[in-house]
Amino acid sequence: MIMGDAEAFTREFLPLFRPVPPTRPGVCRICHSGPNNAGHTGEPWATCASCKRTTMNLYGHTPHVVPISLTTRNTQLYDVLVRERDLNGAGGRRGRGDFLAATVAHFYHRHVRCLEGLAGGPFTLVATIPSNDPELPARPLHIMWEVVEKVGALAPLWRPPILLEADTTFAPVLADRRSHRDAFRILWPGWVSGARVLLVDDLFVSGAHVQSAASALIESGAAAVVALVIARLINPASRSPHSAGIWQEACERPFSFAHCCVCDPARGTGA
Ligand SMILES: [Zn+2]
Ligand SMILES: [Zn+2]
Repeated sequence: MIMGDAEAFTREFLPLFRPVPPTRPGVCRICHSGPNNAGHTGEPWATCASCKRTTMNLYGHTPHVVPISLTTRNTQLYDVLVRERDLNGAGGRRGRGDFLAATVAHFYHRHVRCLEGLAGGPFTLVATIPSNDPELPARPLHIMWEVVEKVGALAPLWRPPILLEADTTFAPVLADRRSHRDAFRILWPGWVSGARVLLVDDLFVSGAHVQSAASALIESGAAAVVALVIARLINPASRSPHSAGIWQEACERPFSFAHCCVCDPARGTGA
């Protein structure tokens, strides 16, 4: 996909995206959703309860999760990602694979330095996560395979299938949004040893898939793992004191591909 095409494509569908807040008090430093407040101080925890649970008992995890957009279950973006809907634009029907590829291509082009900064240098490997949800029919080709293959900057670094489901034992664990260090295995550890890995996924809910995959990559010697996800699911009805506010802010602020949660000008100001 050519960069100009990706820009034009995503410009048409800009209202589907919601800005992701930078890390600050009240925004989880890993997943950018709302943490609880600590009972003893009343201040928000740095990490949300979900990330605490998901990163426990792993060999390792990535603290670097960069969502392109926030979403709830009642959005067109969620329909595209989860309900497998295509889009209708000025030019007629647009396939979801093309839309997601344009989204990743445009974002990566604008924020490659933000992502590489988190990794400590240029990426040497791109990985996608196989789908092993027992609720879904077996899909040999995950949508993110199609997406990464279409993104010119990522395709040359992509080694499918570097991550494999270990076996069916862990499918119910992941479906239950829980992580496990043995949920994925690495097909060619030689590719992973010393690599700076960009792990690309579609929807971040608890991070069970992303963090289990990160654990397997780190155990095989990855030097760094940065997760680039298209959307982070937010529950605006959550009892967490900060999640509803994060969603409200995301609906009030205009979305722009010009900044991400790493380079957001509001970062660090506490605003
Ligand atoms: Zn979190
Ligand atoms: Zn950025």
